[in-house]
Amino acid sequence: MQSASARSQTRSSSGVVRHLYNFVGGASVEGGRPFDVFDPATGKVHAIAYEADAAIVDAAVQAARHAVEGDWGKMPLATRRKLLGQVADRIEERFDEFLAAEIADTGKPVDLASHLDIPRGAANFRVFADTIANLSTETFEMDTPDGLGAINYAVRKPIGVVGVISPWNLPLLLMTWKVAPALACGNAVIVKPSEETPSTTTLLGEVMNEAGIPPGVFNVIHGFGPGSAGELLTTHPGVRAITFTGETRTGAAIMAAAAPTTKALSFELGGKNAAIVFADADFDAAVAGLARAAFANTGQVCLATERIYVERPIFERFVQALKQRAEALRPGLPYEPGTTLGPLISAEHRGKVLEYYALAASEGARVVTGGGVPKFGDERDGGYFVEPTIWTGLPETARTVREEIFGPACHITPFDNENEVVAWANDSPYGLAASIWTSDLARAHRVGRAMDVGICWVNCWFLRDLRTPFGGAKLSGVGREGGLHSIGFYSELSNICIKL
Ligand code: NAD
Repeated sequence: MQSASARSQTRSSSGVVRHLYNFVGGASVEGGRPFDVFDPATGKVHAIAYEADAAIVDAAVQAARHAVEGDWGKMPLATRRKLLGQVADRIEERFDEFLAAEIADTGKPVDLASHLDIPRGAANFRVFADTIANLSTETFEMDTPDGLGAINYAVRKPIGVVGVISPWNLPLLLMTWKVAPALACGNAVIVKPSEETPSTTTLLGEVMNEAGIPPGVFNVIHGFGPGSAGELLTTHPGVRAITFTGETRTGAAIMAAAAPTTKALSFELGGKNAAIVFADADFDAAVAGLARAAFANTGQVCLATERIYVERPIFERFVQALKQRAEALRPGLPYEPGTTLGPLISAEHRGKVLEYYALAASEGARVVTGGGVPKFGDERDGGYFVEPTIWTGLPETARTVREEIFGPACHITPFDNENEVVAWANDSPYGLAASIWTSDLARAHRVGRAMDVGICWVNCWFLRDLRTPFGGAKLSGVGREGGLHSIGFYSELSNICIKL
């Protein structure tokens, strides 16, 4: 394999098309089948990535293993923390490049990417460099028959080579959320970004080198899931753990693939999240908060709200207010002034979302707003836009109300009492997130506690403290990450027992 960094860009008739190579042992490497990466706002190809084959994946595993067993694994914690801080610094210094790369892959509005995706990418490295600094481990003094006793204490070690498989909705944010703690714990990683959004992960490889992270600590393999780089990673015997964010059924496939080599698994999966709005809530705050929860990132957020339950006295008013919010959203190109709604990620995903739009109608929903595709009359018609959509009138059994759509769409149902609405909210195979809107503190706690979810917000949504446990109940996940929980997953605790 030769270095390919000198050939990072070529021109095509549609403008600059970037070439995104696999990154192994600190260098871009040639090889692999090329595949197109599309700009979702226009449908044009903006990059070509190279699908890692078995030889490239194997080289990445060997490079990662070498790093863990060598300098990186033995590095003093203070030095490792300093290097992670330098990664955060370099992301911030190259902020505009990360922003452009993320926007090219996702089509998301510049305002969203510059306030959420890129800053969180840098913050993840700072948070976990700090978290790892102040940790204790368990110690137990024990009695022994000779009366002299023994002391047990645990030491924390890296697990080894960790596979990180990430989705396309918040590419840099969700990938670094896993890479940062894995590296803080002294592991080496092989990242398989989504085939739809490989750009920022590739750029992070350059940043790792600039920050002084040793070769082999951070590797990138491009490609798809089954029969491709994803499956090669999950079945490789040299990989000790897989951390995955994506669809529930993909998690199930990865669990089966990883079973023969008994890898540690951490999964952040799908959701069908509910919000409950009580009549005593701050009405305007609830409408504004749930407009964000339903439509931000074009509804492509695992924590997005697709089911809203509103207490009957304020139901009609709420539906009208949310409708106004949805109709005020401006779909458009990411850098166009006034754009507040980006496209969906791909033609295929738009097809799936539009199938749900048709299904809702056939299930008897009242379409309050949306349900179609906006027409622009220019290059945006080649993009993957859909209208933000609100439905009412469906029973709890409707597929539209039960299945994850992952688009800018929600269903609103009136309710009459607390027990009824808690039962409806919990009647889901998923259990990722919920939000409750009320001015009654006791009720907020009571209902919040009753939600079968990994995270429940009260009078807010997507307010994230990265030190808190994060993950899903039921089909929404396996395990927790965040703060100490990430450190727990990404390290091997080894108990030492000293007989005195
Ligand atoms: P996806 O499951 O289709 O793909 C995610 C990643 O897995 C991609 O990199 C893909 O190439 C890879 N993959 C697919 N099949 C694989 C296989 N058999 N083996 C190995 N790798 C495989 O998910 P997506 O469509 O990219 O993302 C959307 C989904 O992610 C939604 O369901 C959403 O709810 C979920 N999500 C969950 C969270 C969370 O924190 N719980 C966060 C974001 C997204």
